[in-house]
Amino acid sequence: MFVFYSLLLIIGLVVGSFITMLTWRLPRSLSLKGRSACDKCHKKISWYHNIPVASYFLLGGKCANCGKHISLRYPLIEVTTSALYVLAGYLWLYSDSTLLHELRANTPVFSSLFILISLITLHFSLLVVDLEHKLLPDVLTLLGGVVVLLILLTLPSPQLFQHLFWGFLSFLFFLSIFLITRGRGMGFGDVKLVFVLGSWLGFPYVLVWLLLSFASGALIGIFLLFARKAHWKQEIAFGPFLLAASFVTFFFGDIIIKWYIALSS
Ligand SMILES: [Zn+2]
Repeated sequence: MFVFYSLLLIIGLVVGSFITMLTWRLPRSLSLKGRSACDKCHKKISWYHNIPVASYFLLGGKCANCGKHISLRYPLIEVTTSALYVLAGYLWLYSDSTLLHELRANTPVFSSLFILISLITLHFSLLVVDLEHKLLPDVLTLLGGVVVLLILLTLPSPQLFQHLFWGFLSFLFFLSIFLITRGRGMGFGDVKLVFVLGSWLGFPYVLVWLLLSFASGALIGIFLLFARKAHWKQEIAFGPFLLAASFVTFFFGDIIIKWYIALSS
């Protein structure tokens, strides 16, 4: 167990370091090749100064060359990715979720964990870019779509079509919001993302997911408004809510449905 979690923790830190780089370069249309450089003095960062988290603290949060502060986003993204990996490992072992059972029943032992971790990596990258730039890069959404399609292909065909049908329905729902609000309510990136996430979850989980997304979006929106961090006109990116809610639904959808039935009966 200790080895299992340590491995996830370390892989999470390394992938987190990659996500930090990816989410910085992708929205700026920079090449993904080549070593990272300090964004203040542009000096290339040597490999021994590029060890996730550890380097940040060893260097006291400052660039080894120019001494300017390194953004907190580096250790923050690395630690969050690592924590998400460990959490995913724990839930993969112990969660009773129907969707997880389906995934595990239809794939070889460790590949279901690998699939989950790939999705977490892609979705967390999307979340970071959307938070910082209000943008969902097509490349990441498309890659997420490929992983979801691979998952769906392990299902028997009636279930496969059920998932795709609900993905398409969610897509149409968001497309109509997009058209009615003329893109002010949400971006077209959200509309595309919803097709991927809706197909992944299928019925009835799609409904739980949408409810969670809108409820958490409204709550945070009202909170930011009262905290005077946002204005009515300033849009808050909706992608992070859709992305976070999809994982909560994947693992806890059954529990939420049970609560709902218990409350309404
Ligand atoms: Zn520097």
